[in-house]
Amino acid sequence: MSKIILTGDRPTGRLHVGHYVGSLRRRVELQNSGEFDKIFIMIADAQALTDNADNPEKIRQNVIEVALDYLSVGLDPAKSNLFIQSQISELTELSFFYMNLVTVSRLQRNPTVKAEIQMRNFEASIPVGFFTYPISQASDITAFKATTVPVGEDQLPMLEQTKEIVRKFNSVYGETLVEPEILLPENAACLRLPGTDGKAKMSKSLGNCIYLSDTEEDVRTKVMSMYTDPDHIKITDPGKIEGNTVFTYLDAFSKPEHFAEFLPEYNNLDELKEHYQRGGLGDVKVKKFLNNVLQDELAPIRARRAEFEKDIPEVYNILKKGSDVAREAAAETLAEVKRAMKINYFEDRALIEEQSKKYQR
Ligand code: ATP
Ligand code: MG
Repeated sequence: MSKIILTGDRPTGRLHVGHYVGSLRRRVELQNSGEFDKIFIMIADAQALTDNADNPEKIRQNVIEVALDYLSVGLDPAKSNLFIQSQISELTELSFFYMNLVTVSRLQRNPTVKAEIQMRNFEASIPVGFFTYPISQASDITAFKATTVPVGEDQLPMLEQTKEIVRKFNSVYGETLVEPEILLPENAACLRLPGTDGKAKMSKSLGNCIYLSDTEEDVRTKVMSMYTDPDHIKITDPGKIEGNTVFTYLDAFSKPEHFAEFLPEYNNLDELKEHYQRGGLGDVKVKKFLNNVLQDELAPIRARRAEFEKDIPEVYNILKKGSDVAREAAAETLAEVKRAMKINYFEDRALIEEQSKKYQR
């Protein structure tokens, strides 16, 4: 069986370091591993509109931002199809059929959607489109027969929902769809990177992000004002690692060679943590180190972005070509789905013959 990747991001803002450790970094590794037959990377504008229906301009502006972020981290259009969700109308058709296989109460149990409804104050009036976006995500994944979906932890319920739809579809209509596997980050700190304010998740919608496209100065300012251990007041006080965002970021980003380069008094992160917990290590020193680590990771990304920014029409061209390839793949799956559901009337010769016999006397 082919190995196929599908993943994507909502164009609700520029991409941040949470996306990077949660999914983008992994995608680039997988892309360059050569192990995959096809890779589809989707800018989920239609999904973004489900909770931004009154602000299409925001979504429109951010499509290009996300595309630039993709290219800047090293996604390569020669190896990965970058495309725009709304341009593939086959996806909405699939959703319409999958909706028959999912109950309202099942959608209500989705913990990520529950949390997002609360965060957006949608409790009293949830847009139907937003409520059903897990079904649309199942269409995105199955349309490309994806076997592997590299995403952050918040996507687990979406993958569960997709698998249920695949099983239900295949059992009712015959083996047609492929069951995908989620690929979560191996490093626990990357599953759900917290915001710079210490809140549970770095999220475009919460304004607690370090963006991949932030300037060197922006990154430094954000790191220096990051949430740490509120009880670590004097340098001599023992400090807490758990829930200390600066250390979570070091877990996610630092490599052994960063110590040799930027903080040679320590051999590794464990030694640094141990000193912090013992007392005698100030937040400023740890933050300066984190800043160096982040700048080291982000500088080449920033430089590549600047190159792609010089030719924006070419970036749209890349997306158009990727969308054409994606449409073809989705159309093939949709045709199979319609055949399985027996709604392929005009290519079903047996049906036409059977009906005409019935009426011939
Ligand atoms: P929005 O607030 O509009 O939902 P978002 O920041 O949650 O935006 P998405 O486009 O919903 O971003 O998510 C894109 C991908 O990035 C998903 O795979 C998601 O799991 C991952 N991701 C998002 N935020 C984080 C995070 N803080 N840590 C790890 N992965 C993340
Ligand atoms: Mg999200």
